[in-house]
Amino acid sequence: MAYAFEIIDSEGRVIDDLWLGHLDRTYVLPNRESCPMYDQIAWCSDCHLFVPAERLYLLDDIEGILQDLRLPQEQMWKRMDTRQLYSPVNEEDLQRQVHDWTIARSWRLMRTSPARCLRCLSTGLHDLQHEGIHTINPETRERFKIRVREHMSMAHQWLYDHEGVPLDAITEDEVVRAWSVRRG
Ligand SMILES: [Zn+2]
Repeated sequence: MAYAFEIIDSEGRVIDDLWLGHLDRTYVLPNRESCPMYDQIAWCSDCHLFVPAERLYLLDDIEGILQDLRLPQEQMWKRMDTRQLYSPVNEEDLQRQVHDWTIARSWRLMRTSPARCLRCLSTGLHDLQHEGIHTINPETRERFKIRVREHMSMAHQWLYDHEGVPLDAITEDEVVRAWSVRRG
């Protein structure tokens, strides 16, 4: 499941849209094990746009998440909430998350590149600065709002190597195009 976001300028006009979905993008490690790619919205200095970007958890964060997943349920829910991560909904989901984060630990140990823009693969990303509900464009200092529009089911899994380079031919631009067509 993915979430569609829209970027809204100070006049209330939708100027751009993008989607995030950690269950739709997957790292495949050299030993063929795989784990979800976590993502976030960032500013790309090559696209000059708000873009979906990789979110590189630190090794310490991943260790912490694995510890949290072993806590009693109530405590675990609180910790996952603080981390803005989904709490496991049942035992099977818990086991899946422990499995995924264990592989994510191996991924983080081998990863060398900084986070990439998922549109153009540049590593020239700026974290977004927030002022209240507004987000600042780091180039023009204009203020924008980012709003969740809907959640969607994606028909495709996007695969990447451990450095965030796509392993299949479909680029993010093609996804965006296909998505725009579907929206009419
Ligand atoms: Zn870019």
